[in-house]
Amino acid sequence: MDSFERYSRQVLFRPVGDSGQKKLAAARIAIVGCGATGSVLLSLLARAGVGYLRMIDRDYVEPSNLQRQMLFDEADAAESLPKAIAAAQKIRALNSEITCEPHADDLTPGNAQELLHGIDIVLDGTDNFETRYLINDFAISAEVPWVYAAAVGSYGVTMTVLPGETACLACVFPDSPKGIVETCDTSGILNSAVNLIASIAATEAMKLAIGARDKLHRTLLSYDVWTNEHAAIGATHPRSDCRACRQRDFIHLRGEGRPHITLCGRNSVQIHERQRPVDFDEMTRRLSAHGSVRHNEFVLKFWRDPYEMTLFPDGRAIIKGTTDTAVARSWYARFVGS
Ligand SMILES: [Zn+2]
Repeated sequence: MDSFERYSRQVLFRPVGDSGQKKLAAARIAIVGCGATGSVLLSLLARAGVGYLRMIDRDYVEPSNLQRQMLFDEADAAESLPKAIAAAQKIRALNSEITCEPHADDLTPGNAQELLHGIDIVLDGTDNFETRYLINDFAISAEVPWVYAAAVGSYGVTMTVLPGETACLACVFPDSPKGIVETCDTSGILNSAVNLIASIAATEAMKLAIGARDKLHRTLLSYDVWTNEHAAIGATHPRSDCRACRQRDFIHLRGEGRPHITLCGRNSVQIHERQRPVDFDEMTRRLSAHGSVRHNEFVLKFWRDPYEMTLFPDGRAIIKGTTDTAVARSWYARFVGS
């Protein structure tokens, strides 16, 4: 396909132009989380011609995702495809000229340096503060800009972090919000709220890639598509006593105080302490005596009431049917091994 033709309407937009388009082609962007927000970020940036996209996601596609996770379809959910793999397939189909690098992995303190290596900009498509603080610590320590984006209910919020220059996530939220925190689980979510906030975040990434830093919004920007309330709180400078960007104390990158993880939107626990490769054929033979089991190239699914397990080739598993980590761990030990 003719690149000139493909991007012609974007190049006509003066602030992009020919030179901006070349910078987009040279940009290397990582998207952490390929759910609702990640789908929009990936789709917009792939279509805009960002030359290299690395997608990282620990989860798999389910029917309840399809209402808002715009890259996925019913076949992906039927196959329980890992979101990173399904997203890369869709992105390659809509722009074969760019490079996609999918990782069906949980971003952790142990692998953050490796998974985010060689990246110019990191974008937040996650659904939890633990991973966001980890991204923030990595970004500040490596001096890589990143864009925070979150949506729940009818409300979305985003902030662009320029390490050492603007406020960072820890400047604005020194601690993870405690008490009753709204999630997609408790408050639901409108797909339009996600799309709005992800569109703003993707545009910030384009400005960063092109070098249009004077156009960044430099606020904690929020918008409610239902009530029409909106706010832009100044975030132009770091907080003077910020743990991350002033004291450079990267507790999340060191892995301290990392809680167990239950996944947003589901009654489930992730087990990832024991990483070792799993032979899906051999595991299928073993598990078939205990329940129903099937696998494809990317995931193995095992059902035994009242739980459902999704097992990845590296031994990581998501156990659905409980939020009790002890229950999930013992069940995993019993059927996969300890
Ligand atoms: Zn800070």
